[in-house]
Amino acid sequence: MNAESSRGAQTVLAPGATIGILGGGQLGRMMAVAASRLGLNVHIYSPSVDCPAACVAETVSVGAFDDTHSVLAFAKSCDAVTYEFENVPAVSAKAASSVAPLRPSARALDVSQDRLVEKSFLRAQVGVDVAGFEDINSVYDLKRAVKRLGLPCVLKTRRFGYDGKGQVIIRAEADIAAAWNSLSPAPCILEAFIPFAREVSIVAARGLDGQIAAYPLTENVHRNHILHTSTAPAAQDDGSAAKIAAKILEQLDYVGVMGVEFFQMPDGRLIVNEIAPRVHNSGHWTQDAGCTDQFEQHIRAVAGWPLGDATPRHSVVMTNLIGDDVNAWAELAKKPGTRIHLYGKSDARPARKMGHVNQII
Ligand code: AMP
Repeated sequence: MNAESSRGAQTVLAPGATIGILGGGQLGRMMAVAASRLGLNVHIYSPSVDCPAACVAETVSVGAFDDTHSVLAFAKSCDAVTYEFENVPAVSAKAASSVAPLRPSARALDVSQDRLVEKSFLRAQVGVDVAGFEDINSVYDLKRAVKRLGLPCVLKTRRFGYDGKGQVIIRAEADIAAAWNSLSPAPCILEAFIPFAREVSIVAARGLDGQIAAYPLTENVHRNHILHTSTAPAAQDDGSAAKIAAKILEQLDYVGVMGVEFFQMPDGRLIVNEIAPRVHNSGHWTQDAGCTDQFEQHIRAVAGWPLGDATPRHSVVMTNLIGDDVNAWAELAKKPGTRIHLYGKSDARPARKMGHVNQII
């Protein structure tokens, strides 16, 4: 029995209990609002008091994510702990799980923080298709791997990549040295380039009792590597993406909401790109689809409650408001059939997610 199970892995939280959230960004903010609707309290742990979740939570602790003493003190004051981003240091996650149920578990972080571990897990333990990949630790590894995987291919840092950061496309052998220099000395992974027809995702939850509820397939369009729109339910969903997501959740004995991103090939075949052990930007449409939204679903799972109904009553297009897009808030707020969600960030820097709108279609 590990530390978490001996600390009451089956604990069900009653209204009035406190959920700790590692991270204070917009995902934490929307989780806190959902928790509040269910009569649960939220304690945010963030490196900055000036974060989107701070003003909607009962309690905020300020500390670094790698300060295990501070994380431990925070977790001791919570009835369960969750996280809103996947780069929580493993030692801190393990410290939290020694004093409170951590949902999802530290294992979900171990798997999703490192692209090499993630792809190996997906291929070997879950048995799903992923892009061909090679472990890269030197320019010599890279030259050999480019020969094996072919051109074009994508060099990515194993850790801390998001929204296209920490990755570079290699289109010709002459690009190899520059690609390596731009990312080294970080350990990297080389991936075969996937000529996908579209990008889709599944947001799914698994409860403490093993119940699984998946939202319908969502079609995603990226601009400058950042999610631009998510349309749900996506056309042509044969249910196979939800089955893959369920396998991943079961394999990890997962509790909470997860996002699974796929490349879909012209023949319909699905290739898993990555998993996010948290609520996911491509699930924001659920807030206005007439079902239990992903934030409430996550809180229900973390609290050990039954999962809610994940069947949407409406089709929705979610559009992210990036940087200056947010300045159109007054116009967007007037639009019929549109719900606007803003994250309370004051500084609309380029590429910063400031909010999103859900258009019911
Ligand atoms: P990621 O950070 O891995 O989610 O990648 C960000 C985006 O880059 C993806 O949503 C794709 O649009 C593109 N991309 C990443 N990896 C590949 C790949 N192996 N083949 C083709 N496109 C990719």
